[in-house]
Amino acid sequence: MAVPKRRTSKSKQGMRRSHHHLKSKGVQYCPRCNEPVLPHRVCGQCGFYQGRDAIVIKTAAAAEGS
Ligand SMILES: [Zn+2]
Repeated sequence: MAVPKRRTSKSKQGMRRSHHHLKSKGVQYCPRCNEPVLPHRVCGQCGFYQGRDAIVIKTAAAAEGS
């Protein structure tokens, strides 16, 4: 099995790990209810997407009525 010839220096280790940070998600806000939503996703609170109701959100009140 191949074995590293020498220990990775703290400098090289740091250089490698400099890319390990997490990228923040591009959070946007729903134009109708102002809840935070991810881009290109339907709003989880009101079902709004592309200027219309993409999905119907079931609420406790709506479930009782039907
Ligand atoms: Zn919304």
